[in-house]
Amino acid sequence: MTSRISSKSSPIVIVGAGVFGLSTAIHLAQRGYTNVKVLDKQTYHETEYSYDKGCDAASADINKIIRMAYGSQMEYQTLALDALSRWKEWNEEIKTGSTRPPGFTADDALFINNGNLTMFSDSSLPEFETRTMENMAKAGLERSQIVLTKPIDVDRAKTNGFGFAVDPFKRKDNYGILDIQGGFVYADKACRFALHKAEALGVQFISGPKRGLFSGFVRDGESHIKGVRTADGTSHSAELTIMACGGWTPSLVTQLDHLCETTAGSVCIFQLPPGSALWDRFAPENFPTWTYDIRHGASGGLYGFARDTNGAVKIGYRGTKFTNPQTQADGVSRSIPTTRWTAESTRQMPLLAARTIRSFVEKHMPELLSCETKNRLCWYTDSFDNHFVVDFVPDVDGLMVATGGSGHGFKFLPNLGSHVVDRIEGRPSDYLHLWRWRSLGPDQRPYNSIMEGESSARSLKHQDLTADDCLIKQQARI
Ligand SMILES: Cc1cc2nc3c(=O)[nH]c(=O)nc-3n(C[C@H](O)[C@H](O)[C@H](O)COP(=O)(O)OP(=O)(O)OC[C@H]3O[C@@H](n4cnc5c(N)ncnc54)[C@H](O)[C@@H]3O)c2cc1C
Repeated sequence: MTSRISSKSSPIVIVGAGVFGLSTAIHLAQRGYTNVKVLDKQTYHETEYSYDKGCDAASADINKIIRMAYGSQMEYQTLALDALSRWKEWNEEIKTGSTRPPGFTADDALFINNGNLTMFSDSSLPEFETRTMENMAKAGLERSQIVLTKPIDVDRAKTNGFGFAVDPFKRKDNYGILDIQGGFVYADKACRFALHKAEALGVQFISGPKRGLFSGFVRDGESHIKGVRTADGTSHSAELTIMACGGWTPSLVTQLDHLCETTAGSVCIFQLPPGSALWDRFAPENFPTWTYDIRHGASGGLYGFARDTNGAVKIGYRGTKFTNPQTQADGVSRSIPTTRWTAESTRQMPLLAARTIRSFVEKHMPELLSCETKNRLCWYTDSFDNHFVVDFVPDVDGLMVATGGSGHGFKFLPNLGSHVVDRIEGRPSDYLHLWRWRSLGPDQRPYNSIMEGESSARSLKHQDLTADDCLIKQQARI
């Protein structure tokens, strides 16, 4: 076991205070590292990870799904179950006050256990769900899985207080599985909690569009990174630099070419009118977290949530992901995030996403059609095989990446960083072989996290992003 860091007081710089950076910072501090600094271009202390206040990281969102179902991938199921117990511990830390960030009260919770409803249009159980059922049984958790077409299972859901989650859309053919362990987390609140926890453990945060913006590496020759520079001209020395910049990472660490790609998911928020009857209907105690035909390609890939405390009902589409290739200084084209808050502001979503969401809402949630809507593109960092990337950059000393969330990283905020520290310390791990630096083999095809098949990433550039008839506009009715 050889650690890549000489002492627990050696300076470590993490660039990026999203899920990967935050989790790494917490676990480094918990293992006794005393000189950990996190840089971010966002002023999260003020903006509180709110998209409406200018944050556009994948982690800066109102909510994210917490699922345990991972098909045949037992490692991730085990990791998700571990994360689940830690989410519950974090809820408890808020309740008891042992960790309570400014503005939180004892009644605040991060994880809400309102069930995770996986719906599909076919009567036969998809392969992914069949494997999940088997692996849940292996973990002794088969009773948490409710097959909607089995009356005995539905009765069990009701007995456990999940009757509301069995058929929230009153579907004619109600095919699907409800996992009564799952639900969602309030994502922005969870990041605020994690940032506060890291600070309480001694981690230093430097943020802002100049002080926190990574502008380049400090090098000792080509192959030794000794820290980073920020846009205000400051150099931050580090024995180890960890790049955790989400969708921005592939353009900052270009060695990731062919390993990670930045792609957009489409999100629509339906704003419930205050005081309307819909407020109760979509409350988390009456409405589950859901997905619909999530691995069925372009015509499926839908997911959604109960309303948040402000009455926002979020529906996302990930049946097709989109890319935004831009030619960079080295002449190579890479996809980079474009959002409402980037220099070239994007307030629309691609037509295909808008149409698919609309068609689902018309059929299953028509009561939302009169609500005001807002759109967002939220940027994934996809690896070609859907596994994270937690490793040292080959042939470069002092540089590591923690990225490649591939659309499923948020749920691991409480435990992901522990495995990043394992990598630094050279400890054995059940996960790091999946997250190692790697390249696509000659016979391997890119995996698509959505379809469990070939990658469907499409270029935003090939979509007409500005044509009025092509896209839903900000504030337009969907
Ligand atoms: C639409 C969508 C839906 C998702 N849904 C789920 C879900 O339901 N459940 C789930 O488990 N996961 C989900 N995910 C995945 C999850 O959100 C991500 O895996 C995770 O948030 C990624 O975290 P990150 O730290 O890698 O990146 P980010 O959250 O993007 O954070 C990167 C950080 O780096 C900073 N940064 C970038 N460039 C610089 C720079 N030059 N200088 C300084 N700072 C910089 C950014 O400001 C940002 O704070 C979803 C992702 C998307 C896009």
